[in-house]
Amino acid sequence: MRVRGKLHGGRLCTRCALAGRLAGLLDDGTGAIRPELAPLADALLAMDNPLSGLTWLYPRQGRSGSADDLLRRLGRGEIQLTHEAFNGLQPWRAASHLRDLLMACGVLPAIDKQLCAFERWLDIHLATVHRQRPCPGPAPFHHLGGPARASAPGQRRNRSALAREATP
Ligand SMILES: [Zn+2]
Repeated sequence: MRVRGKLHGGRLCTRCALAGRLAGLLDDGTGAIRPELAPLADALLAMDNPLSGLTWLYPRQGRSGSADDLLRRLGRGEIQLTHEAFNGLQPWRAASHLRDLLMACGVLPAIDKQLCAFERWLDIHLATVHRQRPCPGPAPFHHLGGPARASAPGQRRNRSALAREATP
């Protein structure tokens, strides 16, 4: 059964309203929560303040990339339960929050967040850079300097250019 509608439909208490909302969003099409996502639903329902969960699921309701949209796509299996899938998700903030939750409840394996942010940056960076200018070498080692060195395309300097500038 899909539960839609008002924040506090009928006489439901907040936790029941959240349970209904989650059941609807995480439905895998069989009328039940996708089994892999049950720990996520449990964790959200166990929150001290279920109202914050409901609030999180309501702002920007239905828009692409909002929390409820991401949950719905997870429920239907449109988003794979892998870190690779989350690396490509937009908007980054909502996806990152959801990934934290999935790691916290054991649906996704815990990984280093900095590494994950770096991998995502690298994906986007390589896609952008190589659209403009194909990589000359077999492996893009020159991109592996780290996010801080090449955050803006206009600021990219390679080592030899810096060395030339430093030479009087
Ligand atoms: Zn209740």
